[in-house]
Amino acid sequence: MIHALLAVLFPVSCIGCEKVLLDQETHICLNCELELPVTNYQNETNNPLAKTFWGRVKFEFAFAYLVYKKAGLVKRIVQAIKYKGNKQLAYDFGQRLGRQIKLQIHQNGVNALIAVPLHPKRLKQRGFNQSELIVQGIASVTHIQNKSEYIKRTVHTPTQTAKSRIERWENVLSIYEVDKQLFQQNGQCHFLLVDDVVTTGATVESLAKELLKMGNCKLSVAALAFAP
Ligand SMILES: [Zn+2]
Repeated sequence: MIHALLAVLFPVSCIGCEKVLLDQETHICLNCELELPVTNYQNETNNPLAKTFWGRVKFEFAFAYLVYKKAGLVKRIVQAIKYKGNKQLAYDFGQRLGRQIKLQIHQNGVNALIAVPLHPKRLKQRGFNQSELIVQGIASVTHIQNKSEYIKRTVHTPTQTAKSRIERWENVLSIYEVDKQLFQQNGQCHFLLVDDVVTTGATVESLAKELLKMGNCKLSVAALAFAP
């Protein structure tokens, strides 16, 4: 009753098309749900995201839930998370992502989830790391531990727009501080690195290389969206 009353007084609208949501809809309406550009990369080992990292860093598997475009639904979802602070949206889409790769996560023996960290300045501005919320969503459906707190970013990099891939890559080199305790768990380790949107993959690559320098571990990568 209260829920129904609140829905009348403060109707929640669809992130995609701004239509008022029905009771059974969350974040996006059914029409937009059907329009979601879901990748199905979980069924394709050599998918476009995996190929992005070929010759750069070895990942056991690479997955992105959605295809990111310059305009459209996925961009609106990402903006609602990052700039409007819709944390529940990040968590819920993390759960969606987690359900897609639950099988792969368990079959490949992933035993820790790591969000690509934000620089402390950016974290302070935004108040949260969207990738960590995605990780929390994944953790809730896979029961794999979130170990994001073991990694921090140190140096603030200048804006990365309008730079070549190589420049970007150099720009994000060695900016992570990794707590060695991350590796002190029963020998075997397989980390799933989680980012919100992967474009060139430079940030994920630099974090992966930093981790590989420090310990003998397997790595995989998952993103909410991939901009091919
Ligand atoms: Zn809609």
